[in-house]
Amino acid sequence: MHEYPVTVRIVEIASETAEKNRGRVRRIDLVVGEDSGFIGESIQMYFDAVAEGTPCEGATLVIEGVRPKLRCEICGKLFERKRYSFQCPHCGGDGEPTGIGKEFYVKSVELEIEDEFVKTEETVS
Ligand SMILES: [Zn+2]
Repeated sequence: MHEYPVTVRIVEIASETAEKNRGRVRRIDLVVGEDSGFIGESIQMYFDAVAEGTPCEGATLVIEGVRPKLRCEICGKLFERKRYSFQCPHCGGDGEPTGIGKEFYVKSVELEIEDEFVKTEETVS
């Protein structure tokens, strides 16, 4: 259930951006790695309720999932982690964890300002 506070934070970030530009939020693109510790579906579920009454109300939340990848110790190739297996599909070596799949950030916030569209980049901190 820790997606609730993080959803609040996302709405705050996007709303601040909207207020600075005197606009409304039209769309938020969020990147959520499968190993980030957050579940995109839960954020999606909370979003409409949290956004109500803020400049994010009615905005579309688009969640981009990232599958975790391992890097092979032997051949150095990146490959998608399979359940119960860390084995490299190219050479059979052992895969080491990488940062891929741990991402969690707001990729972009699209605003509606009268008739023009502005896109900004913000990071969740
Ligand atoms: Zn390999």
